Amino acid sequence: MHLSRFPRVHLAHLPTPLEPMKRLSKELGVELWIKRDDCTGMSTGGNKTRKLEFLMAEAIEQGADMVMTQGATQTNHGRQTAAYAAKLGLACHILLEDRTGYNNPNYNTNGNVLLDHLHGATTEKFAAGHDMPAEMERAAEKRRAEGHNVYVIPGGGSNPTGALGYVNCAFELLNQVNTSGMKIDRLVHATGSSGTQAGLVAGMSAMNAQIPILGIGTRAPQPKQEQMVYDLACKTVDKLGCSGIVKREDVIANTDYVGEGYGIPTESGIEAIRMFAEFEGILLDPCYSAKGAAGLIDLARKGAFKDERVVFLHTGGAAALGGYDFAFDTSDRWVTL
Ligand SMILES: *Cc1c(COP(=O)(O)O)cnc(C)c1O
Repeated sequence: MHLSRFPRVHLAHLPTPLEPMKRLSKELGVELWIKRDDCTGMSTGGNKTRKLEFLMAEAIEQGADMVMTQGATQTNHGRQTAAYAAKLGLACHILLEDRTGYNNPNYNTNGNVLLDHLHGATTEKFAAGHDMPAEMERAAEKRRAEGHNVYVIPGGGSNPTGALGYVNCAFELLNQVNTSGMKIDRLVHATGSSGTQAGLVAGMSAMNAQIPILGIGTRAPQPKQEQMVYDLACKTVDKLGCSGIVKREDVIANTDYVGEGYGIPTESGIEAIRMFAEFEGILLDPCYSAKGAAGLIDLARKGAFKDERVVFLHTGGAAALGGYDFAFDTSDRWVTL
């Protein structure tokens, strides 16, 4: 697989570390490792940075002077796009969909929103349920009429170009375990707009790695989530020149941990945040990585990973925590000695 034939801006800090989670493993009775894609380097990191290496290269190749993307208010993808645009000297506009309806001031202006603005991006807010891709086309046309060359990035950076970032991650992870002589039995991660899982499935299939990948859903019901991942994985292997290698049964999503809906914290997610923070010193976010970790923890407790060595792919998101302070009660941490 010759990934370097695709244009790429090398800005991510790679390879990301693969580390044991010893205390959490002991607590849950399963050998757990973590692939630190929360440490990709761009504005506190996260999984969108790998996708942006390929998307931003395409933007530059097309002569863009502005990028546009869309997501929920606390989009990590938007924040990483804003940082990339700053680094490359491009203007950036982000359309934010109010999917939760929270009127909490921190949710609306702190966390990722603050970072978007610090990186120089402009933001625009939309009520839930707008046709966001259509709104983005409208906004892009407006800027084009003013003379800008706008490169539009889909929500989550999830198209075959962005998914190449996770084909690359599959290669990287396999290389890490092969080099160190470590056998892994499963890869678990949070799945949303589908590019992460689609790229991983495409890359692992291309290498015939035979490592099961489990996506833990954060928004869509299972049939829709799996179909989205499968469709994008197929398009990604088309782009790679090995059409037809993705098997439908290799695309597995468990959507039991979404809770009330996208971006709304769950009790099991809050527990996961506390466990990762207190056992491993690692920060998760309530919208994605905590729900992924909640699935990992619950399935481990139920014995689903018996005798397995499981790698949790940390997709990032902790920059959102400042927008979700209301989800935590830490008053018992104030003490008087
Ligand atoms: C976007 C995101 C995901 C989901 O990745 P997709 O490629 O959209 O499926 C998971 N975790 C975090 C922290 C994210 O920002």
